[in-house]
Amino acid sequence: MKIEMHVHTSEGSSCAKAEAQEIVKAYGEAGYDAIVITNHFDPLLLQEFGETDEQKIERYLLGYRKAREAGKRYGVKVMFGVEIRLEPGVEDFLIYGIDEEFLFQNPNLCFLSQSEVFNRCHAYGAVFYQAHPFREPCVPQRPEYLDGVEYNQRPNSGNHNEKLDVWRKDYPELRLISGSDCHDLDQVGYGGIEIEENVDNIKEIVAIMKKGNYRLITTPV
Ligand SMILES: [Zn+2]
Ligand SMILES: [Zn+2]
Repeated sequence: MKIEMHVHTSEGSSCAKAEAQEIVKAYGEAGYDAIVITNHFDPLLLQEFGETDEQKIERYLLGYRKAREAGKRYGVKVMFGVEIRLEPGVEDFLIYGIDEEFLFQNPNLCFLSQSEVFNRCHAYGAVFYQAHPFREPCVPQRPEYLDGVEYNQRPNSGNHNEKLDVWRKDYPELRLISGSDCHDLDQVGYGGIEIEENVDNIKEIVAIMKKGNYRLITTPV
């Protein structure tokens, strides 16, 4: 099974150019069985999404929900993830294994420390990865509060995965994932993971991620 781990939709991320429906269709055509929608959970964006926490999160979920509906039409399993920025940092983190309910329970997640977010994710059975740790101005964050790091595959993005390879040597316990960080149709299908099993939900993918039983997709399709 071929799974994209890092996708944005324009309904959820203002920096993304393609709508959920177009993105899902393109991933189906690129031969992916599943995609994880990881829109930006970022205090600045959330501010524009409403007055109350409930309104903000409902609006945040729109891109994912539209993608999930489109997935039924195009035969792509659409799963929920989050790319979060923690105040006041410039780094982004990917969370897999939480659900909508988790966000409603933790509306202030962006204002917690890395260790607090890591611990809340773990208490929920989720995993926490740093996205593109060497894309400037990002720098690697505390490895003891990460499950792993991302080999970001978005073209022309200054990801410096070669620096990540050097840095990772000191932290062999960290797992590696791959994602396209897709924001538009020309960024579809550069990364992800491949697994043997046929899974239906993000919890099953997280179980496989924890065991490390997957292959990284790191070459352009
Ligand atoms: Zn973005
Ligand atoms: Zn991203």
